[in-house]
Amino acid sequence: MAFSVLYWVNFCSGTKKLSQKSESAVKSDHVLKFIYDPELSHVEGRVQASMRDRSYHVTLTLGENDTVIDSKCDCVNGQDKCHHKASLLLYGYKNVSKTDVRASWIQHPKSRPPKKTMTMEELFPPPPKLATYR
Ligand SMILES: [Zn+2]
Repeated sequence: MAFSVLYWVNFCSGTKKLSQKSESAVKSDHVLKFIYDPELSHVEGRVQASMRDRSYHVTLTLGENDTVIDSKCDCVNGQDKCHHKASLLLYGYKNVSKTDVRASWIQHPKSRPPKKTMTMEELFPPPPKLATYR
């Protein structure tokens, strides 16, 4: 199940800034969550804002002829086109087919890299200045 790049192309058409900003957001891993439901033509996700401590919830409804018929985003431009929406579309194009490839790998566990085990202390190292809080 491929995700057409045309959703992104159509969404960004005539707005170079939108395509540039969304490209850099995808490159910087600003798409934190991406869910695609092909049956409902529904895309949902979370895109990190330029400010580090914020992220926006984005929903998109895909229509015929590779268009986006409905979209929402939490940001100030959320009612209009914003690069968060565009980022999700681009992310979908770049990653939906990859997900299929990964699914086929899982059927061959031998090709998976060995699991690295870590102790609880390695995962959650104690804070170094704990004594000073007592
Ligand atoms: Zn937005």
